[in-house]
Amino acid sequence: MDERTSTERARYDFKKAMQDIVDLKGRGTELISVYVPPSKQISDVMSYLRNEYSQSSNIKSKSTMKNVQGAIDSIMSRLRTYKSPPPHGIVIFCGEVPKAGDQTKMVQYVLEPPEAVTTFFYRCDSQFYTEPLLGMLQDKKTYGLIVMDRSEATLGLLTGSKVIEIKNFDSMVPRKHRQGGQSAQRFERLIEIAAHEFFKKIALNATEAFLERGEMIGLLIGGPGSTKDFFVKEEYLHHELQKKVIDTFDTGYTDEYGLRELVENAKSAIVDIELMHEKELIQRLLTEIRNTDGGLSAYGEEVVRGATKAGAADVLLLSEGLNERRIYTKCQNGHEHSFTTSSSPDRAECGVCGSPAEIEKDIDLVDDFFELADQFSTTVEIISADSEEGEMLMKAFGGIAAVLRYRV
Ligand code: ZN
Repeated sequence: MDERTSTERARYDFKKAMQDIVDLKGRGTELISVYVPPSKQISDVMSYLRNEYSQSSNIKSKSTMKNVQGAIDSIMSRLRTYKSPPPHGIVIFCGEVPKAGDQTKMVQYVLEPPEAVTTFFYRCDSQFYTEPLLGMLQDKKTYGLIVMDRSEATLGLLTGSKVIEIKNFDSMVPRKHRQGGQSAQRFERLIEIAAHEFFKKIALNATEAFLERGEMIGLLIGGPGSTKDFFVKEEYLHHELQKKVIDTFDTGYTDEYGLRELVENAKSAIVDIELMHEKELIQRLLTEIRNTDGGLSAYGEEVVRGATKAGAADVLLLSEGLNERRIYTKCQNGHEHSFTTSSSPDRAECGVCGSPAEIEKDIDLVDDFFELADQFSTTVEIISADSEEGEMLMKAFGGIAAVLRYRV
């Protein structure tokens, strides 16, 4: 699986699991959440859990006690498969949740979060403890920020929704008050020289702060008046940074508050950039579809599945809003069958002979496509559900489309 596709899958799976987890509630205080940071020894976690297990024998309700102990058991056997925690640590949610009727079922989610777990944490509650993970759902994209005029400049970073100030400095550009004896012309010239030096200083600091940041998507530049535009137009910045300038935006201030103003005013430009990639993919699909013969396009679950299995799919475009399951069954007559359904069934009938069939695999539909795509080096792109393009993918094409390598 190429790196982009595997990151895309990890992100999709994490987001999907989180959607399920936040809604789960236990009958009693019996849902267990364990956060293990990457630096923690698994053996330490095990002895902590053994202690919790023996403590739980004090729980008054017999059924709660049984469920808590069952969950701890299950977490421990899962942890036994690890020699040490993965690079970002591990988060496990486990416990009995109600299902139809009077029944309960045990659920266990094992997550390797997109950002590192910072502290060890154990909690037994009627809900899973998810707060530390919710902030990780946002895509943490980074932008460089500069706010400036002729007298002050501030450099900063926007990461996710966090604004961080890197550096603030003043210029030596004289105020527009001429000293007695100086000619107006000479004074103007001094101002220009000082301003030029200040712009060079801003550019130098920007190189230091931003050039090595490969993850930085773009540079936003703000400030009052036209100074910032002059700075961009005259190309003071290092040429690599100059290429990353997204646009200039008006702000009233050039200090840390100015950085916040800049982010506020650049918001729509930022959203546009992040949706651009998805837009381009959907445009590519639509261009193919407009060809009289349908071009190199496929859409609809079965058609796309067929094309992928034939090795003909280059890129799969799957909507984040799909929310379906793919079920694989096998009956006593040896028929293997699969079908798509909106929720996990308790039992199934063979699609070939109609006799009762064993459910061999019950997997999220998007994950099913990820696995299929992996066999044929097909790239998978998840398209967000709330963009205009995402809505079109969902409504017009059932949330599943592909750009093909060749026509099938
Ligand atoms: Zn059968």
